[in-house]
Amino acid sequence: MLQDIRNQFPILGVEVHGRQLVYFDNAATTQKPLAVIEALDAYYRSGNANIHRGAHHLAAVATEAYEGVRRQVQALIGARHAHEIVFTRGTTESINLVASSFARRYFKGDGDEVIVSGMEHHSNIVPWQLAGATLRPVPFSDDGVLDLEAMERLFNGHTRLVAVCHASNTLGTVNPVADIVALAHAHGVPVLVDGAQAVSHMKVDVQALGCDFYCFSGHKMYGPMGVGVMYGREELLSEMPPYQGGGEMISEVSFERTTYNELPFKFEAGTPSVGDVIGLGKAIEFMQSVGMDALAAQEADLLAYAAERLAALPGIRFFGRAPQKTAVLSFLVGDSHPYDVGTLLDQMGIAVRTGHHCTQPVMDRYGIPGTVRASFAVYNTRAEVDTMVSALERIMPMLQ
Ligand code: PMP
Repeated sequence: MLQDIRNQFPILGVEVHGRQLVYFDNAATTQKPLAVIEALDAYYRSGNANIHRGAHHLAAVATEAYEGVRRQVQALIGARHAHEIVFTRGTTESINLVASSFARRYFKGDGDEVIVSGMEHHSNIVPWQLAGATLRPVPFSDDGVLDLEAMERLFNGHTRLVAVCHASNTLGTVNPVADIVALAHAHGVPVLVDGAQAVSHMKVDVQALGCDFYCFSGHKMYGPMGVGVMYGREELLSEMPPYQGGGEMISEVSFERTTYNELPFKFEAGTPSVGDVIGLGKAIEFMQSVGMDALAAQEADLLAYAAERLAALPGIRFFGRAPQKTAVLSFLVGDSHPYDVGTLLDQMGIAVRTGHHCTQPVMDRYGIPGTVRASFAVYNTRAEVDTMVSALERIMPMLQ
């Protein structure tokens, strides 16, 4: 079963510095299965056309394929309507879209506040600052668990939105989104969820979570780079102004006045990355062929195994030990700089990420410059974890 999955990922056969690649940088981007690679190839060989309004055959086929993926995404995350799914370039653009448009509609300019978790990626911090909000961060424990009681105290008459990650890219913590939504809605405040690190690891149901916006990237879920999703509840989206102006998002344009297209096209200005959207559809089919439960179980096994094996090494310090975690291990080796560890692992063909992982407030929280992060996907194996542990044993004497 696992070998069948691995066989679908040609890149896993690549050698790096004369060694078989061990790819543990999946939180940054996952590798792509053949079905995705071949769909992109097929689209540009025999299906390329601009979508919507085309009178010709290829345009009709491309439009149907593109809109079909919208329905696939709707089903994947349990959205009520397909027109609540907006295609973007990725999580970053999705959050910038909401921040810009939501702020224009709902900010009052009297000291608007956005409650965020203390473990947000910079892409769920900076767009709110650009929109003029003051951020009110929710603290988290040493283990990486959010303090919901502290969160409760942050609500006041200036709170316009809560913006939290479903899963932290640095700590792995899976936040209790449904509880956070219940708390926020009790204060009449909508919730945006950054799902970049969740959709490829667990079943997501936006209606069960109750959230108002849910954002994610195709490239972190076995799909192509350059495509992502912004889900928003119809009630809010229909109230919000367009983010960008241009083709496709309009109904009628004159030099005096422009009226806007209906949802979701109001938020999809210009030519989208049609081939990448089609590739995203294949990535969803890949995840569904494995099954989200099987996928989560495989990753949970790997995480437990890797945590146990690493913990047995001298001087390993973990960051992020929440009971609910995705398959992310952030650690430091003694007092060594994470970059040195990452570079030495790379020499042995092992790809991990080092640094602040675009979560500088998390690093400040622990008073460290960065971590080494190994993040797993469904195609990773215990044998690969063994390879990393052996490599760490070899490099430890060089580091001290
Ligand atoms: N949020 C989280 C939690 C992430 O891990 C990332 C990617 N590292 C992003 C947002 C941004 O995603 P993208 O670069 O695909 O826009």
